[in-house]
Amino acid sequence: MVDEVPLSRPDVTGAEIEAVLDVLRSGRLSIGPVQEEFESLVARRVGVRHAVACSSGTAGLHMAMVGLGIGPGDEVITTPFSFIASSNSILFVGAKPVFVDIDPSSLNMNPDAVEAAITPRTKAIVAVETFGNPRHMERYRAIADKHEIRMIEDCCEALGASHKRTSAGAFGHVGVFGFYPNKQITTGEGGMLVTDDDRLAEFCRSLRNQGRGNASGTGSWFAFERLGYNYRMSELHAALGVAQMRRLDSILQQRAMVAERYIERFLDNSEIILPSIDSDSRMSWFVFVVRLAHEYTEEERDRIVEGMHRHDVGAAPYFPCIHLQPFYRERFGYAPGQFPIAESVSQRTIALPFYTGLSRRDGEFAAQTFELMLSRENLRRT
Ligand SMILES: *Cc1c(COP(=O)(O)O)cnc(C)c1O
Repeated sequence: MVDEVPLSRPDVTGAEIEAVLDVLRSGRLSIGPVQEEFESLVARRVGVRHAVACSSGTAGLHMAMVGLGIGPGDEVITTPFSFIASSNSILFVGAKPVFVDIDPSSLNMNPDAVEAAITPRTKAIVAVETFGNPRHMERYRAIADKHEIRMIEDCCEALGASHKRTSAGAFGHVGVFGFYPNKQITTGEGGMLVTDDDRLAEFCRSLRNQGRGNASGTGSWFAFERLGYNYRMSELHAALGVAQMRRLDSILQQRAMVAERYIERFLDNSEIILPSIDSDSRMSWFVFVVRLAHEYTEEERDRIVEGMHRHDVGAAPYFPCIHLQPFYRERFGYAPGQFPIAESVSQRTIALPFYTGLSRRDGEFAAQTFELMLSRENLRRT
C-alpha cells in the first residue's frame, strides 16, 4: 500500500525525462559524454579536481577503500548511527569497523571519541554527514591529518551541504555521494566518488571498469592491470543526474523550505527534539528526522510510526544502530549498551514525510497526524 503522504518521493520533471530520451535516441547507452558531463558538474559544485561516477554510493565507498589500500588487519573508525553501507564497505575489503559513539546534538561521531579510538592499526576514518549535517567534518580531517591516516567522507546524505567555505565532499581525502531515489538528487541508482588526488581518481576509474589500464584512453581495451569491478554508471542514469544537478539550487531551496515549515510547526512542542544545526553550517536536508523526548520508549516510538502508517502517512525509524544488526552481532559479538548515545537516539527517532515539493497541505497533514499519535501515547500512560 502506498501512503497518501509518502515518506519520500523522487522529484522527476520533464527535463529529466527529455534527457533520458535524448540518450536513448543517441544510441550511446554507456561510457559516454553524459557521464563525463555529470562528473564535471559535481566536481565543480563540490570544489574538487576529480569526480568518478559509479553505479551506487556503496560501490563508490568500496572503490574508496580499495583505492586507499585498506585491507585485512586494518581498523577503520566509523559511526554506528548510519545507513549500513558506510560500515559494510569496510568489511568488503576485510578491514575491521571500529565504532565510536555519536554527539547527541549533531548525531555525527563525537570527535573526541574518534581521536581516542585511534590505534597503530587505524588506517582511516569513515565520516558520515548524518542526515546532511556537516558538523565536525573539519575536526575529523584535522585528526586524520595529525595521525597521518585517511578520511573517507561518506557524504551520501549531504550533497549541497557546507561548513564555513567547504562543501560536503571536500573535507575528506575522498568523498562519496549516493543518488538513490530518496537522496537530494537521484539517478535511480548511482553514486559519485570525489577527490583532489589525481592518482586515486585514475585508480578508481580503472576499478570501476574491470581494472582496465586505459581509464584515460591509453593502452589496450583488453589490458586488465588489476582486479576491478563493473561499477560503471550508464548514460541513462547520468542523464538523470545532469538534469537534476542543473536544478540543484532550486531543489535544495525547496527542501529547506519544507524543513523550515516543520521546524516552525514543532518549535513549541517540548516533546519533540528538532534537528540542531550550528550557525557556521549549511544543512542539506536529506530527510527530516525528529527525536521524541527522553521519557519516550522505543515501543512507544514504534507505535507512533505504525499509527502514522494507519493514517496513510509515511514514517520510519531512522536509523537502527548498525552494531545491533543481526549480522554484526553475530560476527563481532556486539550487544546493547556499547554505544549508549547512538542507541538512545536511535530508539526515539522518527523520519517524517520529506521530499522536494512536499506541499504545505500534505506537510501539515503529516505534522498533525504525528502530533495526534503522540497525544495518544500520552493518553495511554495516564
Ligand atoms: C544512501 C547512503 C549510502 C549509499 O547508498 P546506495 O544505495 O549504495 O547508493 C551510503 N551511506 C549512507 C550514509 C547513505 O545514506
